[in-house]
Amino acid sequence: MQILHRRAELNRVLGNPRRKGRSIGFVPTMGYLHDGHLSLVRHAKKENDIVVASIFVNPLQFGPKEDFWRYPRNLVRDTQLLKTAQVDVLFTPVLKEFYLPDFQTSVSIKGLSQPLCGVSRPTHFAGVTTVVSKLLNLVQPTRLYLGQKDYQQYRVIAQMIKDLDMPVEVKLVPIVREADGLAMSSRNVLLSTLERREAAFIHRALKKGEELIRSGQSDTGKIKKAVKEVLKFAPHGRLDYLEIVDAATLVPVVKLKNGSKVLMAMAYYFSKTRLIDNILVTP
Ligand code: AMP
Repeated sequence: MQILHRRAELNRVLGNPRRKGRSIGFVPTMGYLHDGHLSLVRHAKKENDIVVASIFVNPLQFGPKEDFWRYPRNLVRDTQLLKTAQVDVLFTPVLKEFYLPDFQTSVSIKGLSQPLCGVSRPTHFAGVTTVVSKLLNLVQPTRLYLGQKDYQQYRVIAQMIKDLDMPVEVKLVPIVREADGLAMSSRNVLLSTLERREAAFIHRALKKGEELIRSGQSDTGKIKKAVKEVLKFAPHGRLDYLEIVDAATLVPVVKLKNGSKVLMAMAYYFSKTRLIDNILVTP
């Protein structure tokens, strides 16, 4: 695996394979890797000649009071994991060189950035779309791999790619979970033992909602009420949001319609640590 820190090095390494028409699969991450990230790598390995992963904790996507400085990091371990997963190129840009002192551009998309996580993180998605635009320009991949755990991020990026005619195919990879159902996340290490135990109820609550939908309940008010009942088993946390929205537009749905796919999404705080999870269901 080649480890690159500078943008010029990327062109040197990827220029030749690109000219030869080799396909490039790209997995952008913020590091502190777990099996969710590695699942993206495995999908990329299957479908491409070359796999590029990036590790960059992007300050633009953190709000002023958010956990940029607390965000877990372990580049040595991450490098080993990516080597074992047979990633070809790891790009870990240096912050000061990535955003030069005169950097002043922002890429943002309107509608899809506003609901769900956009309510409590109003600047988050502009940070994401800006960094992903830069990374896509640098790596020029054939396919981009994103996890369903950040489903809104996937919708926002897919819309940006469509709106701006970016020549890359987006692939959505299912959520990888711990044995008790908690969605794997780099932030899970920030939880206390008690919080970690209670965090399993985030997924259990969503499963309760899914069960109701599958058994024919179409009133999203009633579904959300039942989901919140399960969350009472996680009293040391607090709900940021629970929404049932159209899976494409992210617009809230009041009454479910047979055949139209919805996203049931949640963000839940344990002290300062904010966890997200979701389930896609077609009633
Ligand atoms: P992050 O490092 O948290 O920015 O995540 C990098 C990529 O990994 C994003 O596309 C995430 O959606 C994806 N990802 C994170 N956690 C999981 C998970 N548990 N299962 C699947 N994909 C994930």
